Parts: sequence; C-alpha cells; structure tokens
Amino acid sequence: MKEKGNTAAVTARTPVIGLPRALLYEREAVMWKAFFSSLGMRGIISAPTNREMLRLGAEAAIDEVCLSTKIYLGHVRSLFGKCDLILVPRVSNYGLHRNMCTKFESLYDLVCNVFRNTGQRFLAYNVDVLGGISEEKAFVDLGMALGFGRKDAVRAFRRAGRAAAEDWHKKISREERLYRTDQIKVLVAGHSYLTEDAYIGRPLFQYLEEMGVVPIRADRVDRKEALRQSVRVSPTIKWEMSRELLGSIQMHKSKVDGLILMSAFPCGPDSMVNEMIIRKFPDIPILNIVMDNQDGTAGLETRLESFTDILKLKRGEL
Ligand code: SF4
Repeated sequence: MKEKGNTAAVTARTPVIGLPRALLYEREAVMWKAFFSSLGMRGIISAPTNREMLRLGAEAAIDEVCLSTKIYLGHVRSLFGKCDLILVPRVSNYGLHRNMCTKFESLYDLVCNVFRNTGQRFLAYNVDVLGGISEEKAFVDLGMALGFGRKDAVRAFRRAGRAAAEDWHKKISREERLYRTDQIKVLVAGHSYLTEDAYIGRPLFQYLEEMGVVPIRADRVDRKEALRQSVRVSPTIKWEMSRELLGSIQMHKSKVDGLILMSAFPCGPDSMVNEMIIRKFPDIPILNIVMDNQDGTAGLETRLESFTDILKLKRGEL
C-alpha cells in the first residue's frame, strides 16, 4: 500500500494467498475472497477433493486425526508451489458457549508442524472472542500484518462481511424453498466441510436425488435462530457448529420425512452430539452415517436405499 504522495516504485509482487478448499472454506470462502480482493490481493483455491488429495493428507497426518483434518492436510499439500502463503485460520471461539472444535484452534500449529521441512509459508488470523480477539480485530490484524493500513483493513473487513451476509442469505433462501416440495425430503445434518466435499459428501446427495429424494442441508440455516433453538434441545452443548445443526433439526423436524446424520471418523463432538440427537428426536427416522477413508461407495448406496424404502413405506408409496 502506498501513502498519498509516495513516489517510490516496488518490484516485489503482492503475495498470492492459497485457500485450501476444506474445513472452514465452505463457511468462510466469500468472506476471505472479498477481504483479500478488497486489499488488491490475489488468491488461489485448491481443487475439489479427490482420491489423491485424501491419500496425501492421510500420509501427512497421524492415524488418530479425523477424516476432515486429513482432507484438509491434503488440500494444503496440493497448494505447495502454487502460492506464496497458505491461509490457515486459528479459530477458538465466538464467545461464551460458542466454541469451535479444538481442531480449529490448533490447526495453524498442526499444519506448521506437519509441513515444517517444506519451506512453505503459512498465514493465520486468530479469533478468540473470550480472549479479547473479535473477528473484526482478527481480520484487521491480518490485513496489517500483510502491510496494509488499519483503515484499509477495516474497510476490507466490513465489505467482506457484507458480501458474506448477502451470499448466506441467498443460500438459506434456496434451501428454504426445498422444504416446500411434495417429494420425500431428508434433512442432512453434517458439518459444511463434509456435506460440500466433492469426494466425501456430494455423492450422498447425488444418490438421494437419483432415488427421488430431496436432500436438504441442515447447516444452511439462519445461524442466530438455530443457536437460539438449540438451547431448547440442550442448554449445555458448547460447540458452535454442533449447536447450529441441532437448532436446525429442531426448526425443521416437522417439515421433513427423515434425518441423516453425517459425520467424519473419528469425530469427538459428533460422537456425543449424534447420540443425543438420536435420543432427543425419537419421532423421526434417523440414519447415522460415519464417513471414513472410503474406497468404494457400495455400502453407502445400500444403506441409503434401505433408508429411502423405509421413508417411502411410511408415506404409503411402496
Ligand atoms: S468437529 Fe469433528 S470432523 Fe470437525 S474438525 Fe472437529 S473432530 Fe474433525
């Protein structure tokens, strides 16, 4: 950024930022892209997940981490040599009872450690509202660390916030329309990085559609309302994204024929929350699917077919 009246010339190019298409990408992509482009920066996004990426991620990770983290590491690895800095945000919480899974808090350190000998450089912003770092401060600090002035960083953050809110509103409206169809409807409750993932989540949506079922994403919901509604089901759950899904189920349970819980193996929060959902919503047919480093989808297809048959039987369509 140049000061007014500055006559200097700089040949160093603005760094290109790599955005891994995994974990927070689906949730924050519009925000990130608008923020960096407002600052005049360029970004590059990793390709949709494929088998090779998952192999790379699994190779880099220890066995115990969840599938979503393995996929993330594969995306990070695929960006090497294509950008100067890879964005790896560190998000701890958005306030009281609004925590992120610990993976999001440790992600930057984990990535730096796993890829410590590669020479790749990473970029982080930190959100920790309980620790005094709001989302705005996190982004403004990021902009300033990249060499921009405070005013420009604040302007970029606000512009990005507006773009993200507008985009989210459109996505929710599209999803809301699906609840009004007469076909069999299934609410799919999974973290956005699973439901949106080309290799892991999308096939499930395609199978359902091929079977004449309308899948609706529980994560595409009015988040504030979902957080409010989640308290009616459980006042103690503290993970932000689990609470959003829980609230969404509470808001939409009477509008759908069935519910699919989609998780990554081994997910700590989901293993507890899904058990609770199964107990708290006894009136709705539920299918619990745990995704692993799958090589084939035959098992998944069979389970979806059986579940769909049950829903059809219930509606007298079989
Ligand atoms: S919530 Fe589960 S799937 Fe998501 S990052 Fe945490 S452990 Fe992994």
